Amino acid sequence: MPTTVGGIVLPSGAGTAPPRNERITASGHAYPMVHDPARHRTRVATGEEPFHFTPWSAYNGEHDPGRALAEMDRWQSPMALLLTPTGFLPGDASGIRALREAVRLVDRVRTDRTVLAVPVDAAWLSDFGAQTLVALLGPVRVPKALVLDPERVQVDTAERLRALRLVVSEVHDTAVLGAGLVGLDALAHGASFASLDEAATASCAPPYPGDPFPPPAPTWPGILNRTLLTYMAGPTATAHLPALGRCTCEPCLRWGEARSLGEPGRPFEELGQAGTGAVHGHNLAVWSELWQEIAREPSPRARAARWNAVCAAAVRAHAWHNDTAGARLPPLVPPRGLALMAGCAQR
Ligand SMILES: [Zn+2]
Repeated sequence: MPTTVGGIVLPSGAGTAPPRNERITASGHAYPMVHDPARHRTRVATGEEPFHFTPWSAYNGEHDPGRALAEMDRWQSPMALLLTPTGFLPGDASGIRALREAVRLVDRVRTDRTVLAVPVDAAWLSDFGAQTLVALLGPVRVPKALVLDPERVQVDTAERLRALRLVVSEVHDTAVLGAGLVGLDALAHGASFASLDEAATASCAPPYPGDPFPPPAPTWPGILNRTLLTYMAGPTATAHLPALGRCTCEPCLRWGEARSLGEPGRPFEELGQAGTGAVHGHNLAVWSELWQEIAREPSPRARAARWNAVCAAAVRAHAWHNDTAGARLPPLVPPRGLALMAGCAQR
């Protein structure tokens, strides 16, 4: 992915030092980096304390959150963007109070690179919750990042998808973090940035059972298939990968060229026995090529229509694949999120 559109979100837990980027730039990839303190995993935001700074600065004895935000923005680090250490926002009156206070504090900070992190649960992705987010976040000058921790919220109903689309299309400069495949839907509907969290998304696929053909080293991440827009691992991958032919994403093309096997690309079956790094590399290339295809469309409306067509084609490809495989293979069912994005899921 070109560095003009690609980047890396680096999380750090409470008590651990923020990651340093020397190793990443030394590997030859100078991607812009976003620091995520991920405080929502361990702390709840309140109206009195929406942000959790640990530790407080020695120069900020009175624990003034506005001053701490300003210090954070001036932090000497190579990070291009810094997410605020927002606690988790419950989907109730206390969460609304906490978000209102977070907005008030962040709006007073002169910032070059602070992003307001908004970690929400499923209750916020309702018609009412989305309208509340639009009303509270709409006037905020700094970029916003809606954080959808997969352990707290899955975008798996029509109402949640509609709510997410409303927020990213109505609130200027909003990113979506952690939503997996739905992150591309958010981009297609106007989000400024999306983190697909490939490591977590690919690991949600069930592990290989080691049977009937045990791979030499167990491969945990699921393998993303561009046509079906589905991650496959475990029994599904074992049964279906041989029938899917070859992948022609950039790293898979390079794999084929290096071996001069006569046919372009890499057999999915072979990819099913590759190491974790190779599988993530393939998955990220598929994401990246898919987004470049959508981004070529000239207008937001055309991008949304194109994305919808890609999802609908992927749902149809499931039926086609199942018909071709016949009774030999257990049928593949399109993931619910995919069917929703294609507009063909039952409510
Ligand atoms: Zn590939």
